[in-house]
This record gives sequence, structure tokens and C-alpha cells, in this order.
Amino acid sequence: MKNEYVLYTVTPCDLAGHRLDISLTIQNPDPGGQLLAMPAWIPGSYLIRDFSRQVETIRAHSAGQTVAISKSSTHAWQCAPCDGPLTIDYTIYAWDLSVRSAHVDETHAFFNGTSVYLSVNGQEQLPCHVRLCPPPRTQARSWRVYTSLPEATGHPQAARRYGFGMYVAPNYDALVDHPVEMGLPQVARFRAHGAQHELVFTGVAPNLDLKRIVADVKRICASQITFFEPESNKPPFLDSSDRYVFMTMVTDDGYGGLEHRASTALMAGRRDLPVVGRADAGAGYQTFLGLVSHEYFHTWNIKRIKPAAFAPYRFDRPNHTSLLWVFEGFTSYYDDLMLLRSGVVTETDYLRMLGKAITSVHGTPGRTKQSVAESSFDTWTRFYKQDENSPNALVSYYTKGSLIALGLDLLIRNETDGQRSLDDVMQLMWTRFGRDFYQNGSEQGVSEDAMPQIILEATGVDVSSFIEHYVLGREDVPLHTLFAAQNIAMNWAPVSALPTLDLRVRAEHGETRISTVLENGAAHAAGLSAGDSLVTVNGLRVSDPASLDRLLAAYRPGDKVKVHVFRRDELRVFTAVLGEPVATQCTLERMEELPAS
Ligand code: ZN
Repeated sequence: MKNEYVLYTVTPCDLAGHRLDISLTIQNPDPGGQLLAMPAWIPGSYLIRDFSRQVETIRAHSAGQTVAISKSSTHAWQCAPCDGPLTIDYTIYAWDLSVRSAHVDETHAFFNGTSVYLSVNGQEQLPCHVRLCPPPRTQARSWRVYTSLPEATGHPQAARRYGFGMYVAPNYDALVDHPVEMGLPQVARFRAHGAQHELVFTGVAPNLDLKRIVADVKRICASQITFFEPESNKPPFLDSSDRYVFMTMVTDDGYGGLEHRASTALMAGRRDLPVVGRADAGAGYQTFLGLVSHEYFHTWNIKRIKPAAFAPYRFDRPNHTSLLWVFEGFTSYYDDLMLLRSGVVTETDYLRMLGKAITSVHGTPGRTKQSVAESSFDTWTRFYKQDENSPNALVSYYTKGSLIALGLDLLIRNETDGQRSLDDVMQLMWTRFGRDFYQNGSEQGVSEDAMPQIILEATGVDVSSFIEHYVLGREDVPLHTLFAAQNIAMNWAPVSALPTLDLRVRAEHGETRISTVLENGAAHAAGLSAGDSLVTVNGLRVSDPASLDRLLAAYRPGDKVKVHVFRRDELRVFTAVLGEPVATQCTLERMEELPAS
């Protein structure tokens, strides 16, 4: 039907109680009774979260009459048949301080569409109008709205920029991909290749050096736009919004991000952000810029170039793909590489970052049990549901995926005398799968076994054996050899010279608790377990994690020590034979060019 649309009204109604009021009006409900559903997960975070559980109250009415509504499955509601426009009023509880759902208090309201908007079965392709309303409290009236969701230009109630009022999305899939921040954040703006970008910081961040952040983020964005579109310099988000919005929640030690088609939601630690007048922002700030770079790269790689399994997303169940080593792994490779290419970090910094990633994968015993393809497929129940044994059982498709990208990049450069690289692969994937994704409506994604052929086509290099061994198989990427051809030396050294118990500990309520026992190590052989609270080593108290290192420093590898622990409040004693310090830290060093012979 012409001009038909679905209308949502969102009001942060109870700031102290963390509630959002939603009103949904369907002009032509299903005559057989309208089915409605809340997404079970949010794209980018591969865990079933059951957002329907935060719907506190729900009622339906039509033409002044109540319409019966009841739950029909975990995520869905069934309405009784009715003739006219149907309105659903419901309340969402919003008190999750994360990038994944919704958070409302007296200072702000942030929400993802997947936590707030019910989908209307059979009408997912209709345009969606969203009326964003201010909270009722007088002190919050001055709040403004920050989102990449376009204003409903031409509509009589259209929102003005940053104002409350009517916004619009072409369909449900787009609607839920534009998170909204309301409040009084610190805001900075810049243009990269002419396109508007906004940096929005919520939470207290005194003397935030916005000028410096703008200068750095602008360089990163400009580099990425040119990387994918060297001729037009056209950013991808213009198909969905006239701007890109970085919405950052600042907390004491927050870290994380979630990508969207024209925005990203980030969590950052206050200490990682630069302060006016202080030049020494350091490694924490580089980590923040790496996160910014990562989420921005996703604007191309996963929001538009997608695995076929995500085209389209199905919101009611896990969407399995074995390709997250491409979509998260390649993105993790390019995030830091883009910091180097945009001049935000030096080559020395960059080699240190690469060394850290190699060290991290090498320190994960689980890499011999799980491939990155398996890790991708099973992320819903394994990588996203980690426990004390995960380091022994899992490999990260982020970090090992980034090493696969690095290995492929080196291999392609080595085999083509530097004529081709992984850049050619990304650019081919962009033109084939990404550039017109939202325009042509075909929703063509990358099929599960497509990568070897795509890489061959882009570079002329046959990587099928590489994929077989390091992606589908569980072998370590032979970076040492691949680096050597680029005159980069890869060295291993022990992190410390101390003998080791081969375990990881954390401080917990004044105790030093074992968080992981590494498989086949000294603690494993002695019988120590994750969850044990360390009490003494050879009669001397373990007062905190650092004291464990000090106690072990008195011994040599091969020495026997008695370790007292509490397990289930019972005092137990174990005898451990201390292990050798292993060479677990990777450093990379550029060698002098050899003279041509
Ligand atoms: Zn990511």
C-alpha cells in the first residue's frame, strides 16, 4: 500500500527507574492476528541475549478497544485479529551499561534498536518512522539527540538536527542498525573527504582533548576511505545517513565497541583518553584509536561486505558462519595497520602491536585444538561463553584471524615481488560484495568457501594450501619465514626469568584465585585447579598476585614447592615441580636491507 509505514514512539519515561516507553502503530495489521517479535541478539555480538526478557509490560489496542496479546514463543507475541490500525504500548527496562543493549538514567539515554523495536511480522520491509520524545523531567528537557538515523525531512514533525521529533528508516533492518544517544555529551565534529563525522562522549571526562582526538580520528577515517575508494573518496555510510557518529561511553576502565552501518557505539576508559595540556597519552590512547579504527573499518567489512549467512540477518536464532576470521580477523589486522598508514603511530609502535598479537596467540594452548573456522562457527556457544578452561580449548578468530591476514599479506607480497597484497583482496571484495549492498537489494554475501578463489582472482596467488593448514587446520602461521623475506626478524624471549606454575591468577575479595590452569603445565601436573584460592607457597603467604611472583623468584625450575590452597573452603596441599620460564614473548625488528647481489 502506498505511503504505508510503521510508527514507533520512544520516550525515556522513568529515568530513575531506567525505563523506556514505546508505542508502536501498525496501519494495516495482519487480519489473522498480528505477530510481533523482539530480536534475540544484536549483530556484531554473537550471543543469544533474549532482549524480549526486558519487556516489562505490553498491551495492544485498536479503535479504543483492547486487543488481546500474549506470548507465542520466547521472542514473539501474538495479537488477536482486529480491523483498524493496531497500537502496541510496551515498556523496556534499560539498565545495561554496555554497547550491546540499552542504558537509561538521569544523565542520558542510550539504546540499540534491537533492544527496543518490536518487528512487525510480514511488514519488515516497510519504512519505519520513529518519534523520539524527551523525558518528562524538566531538567532533562535540554537533552539533545545524537544518532545516524536520518531525520524525517519533509514530515510536519520532522526532527531538527540533534532535536527530538520524527526520524525515518527505509526498513526494519536499517532501523535497528542506528543506535540513539540522548543527553548532554561532549561533541566534536570534523569532515573527512568532505563527509560529516561526529564524536560524541557521554560520561564525565574532564579536560578531554577533543582537538587532538579529532585530528587523529580524522586521519584514520580519511585513510580508510581512500583505501577502499581511491578514486572517488566516497565513504560508504552515505547510502544510509549524511554523517557517521562515534558514540562513546566513558567509564573508569571500559573497553569495547559495536559496529553499525553509519555509526558505532564504544566504551572507553577515562585513563585511555588524552587530556588537554598533556602530551603523554601513551599506549592506552593508541588502544582507543585502534578500537575507533576497528569499528570504522567494519563500516565496509561486515556491515556491507557480509558473509552470506548474514544476508539478511535472522534475528530469532544464531546465524552461523565459519568466516569471522575474515570479518573480525582481517578487521583486527587492518585496524592497527591503518593507524600506521595514517601516521598516527610509528613503525616501531606498529611492530610492537604485531608482536603483542603474536604473543597472545602463542600463549593460548587452545590454538592446537580449535581452528579459526571452527571458532567462528561456534562463537555463539564458545568464544562468547568463555570460562576458566577457554585458554586451553579455544582460539580467538580475532587475534589468530589477524595473524592469518598478516600471513596472507606477507605471502602475497612475497610471491608477487610486492606487486600485490591483501589490499587487493579487500578492494575486490568491496567492489563485488559491498559497494552496492544496500542499493541493489540483492543482499549477496560471501559464501563459506569463497575466500581462496577471491584471493586468487585478486592477486594471482593460490592460497588454498595456506587456508587448509592455518584456517581450516590448527597449525601456527609460519610468520618467521614469511617475515624473513621482508627483512623483518621475529624473536622469542621469556616474559620473565622466573620459574613458573603455568597458571593465571586474579585478585578477588582479598584472595589470589587461580583463574586458569594451563594444560600440561606445572600446576596441572600438581593437581591445582581453577577456582582454588592460593594461601601459601612453602609456608609463605600469597597476599596478592604480585606476591606469588616474588615468592617464586626464590626458586629455580625443577624445584619442588608445597602449595596450600582453599578449595570449597577446605585447606588442601599440593606439591608442584616448578617449570622452566618459556620463551613466550615475540618481538619484531626490521633488519638492514641486504645489498643486492
Ligand atoms: Zn569487530
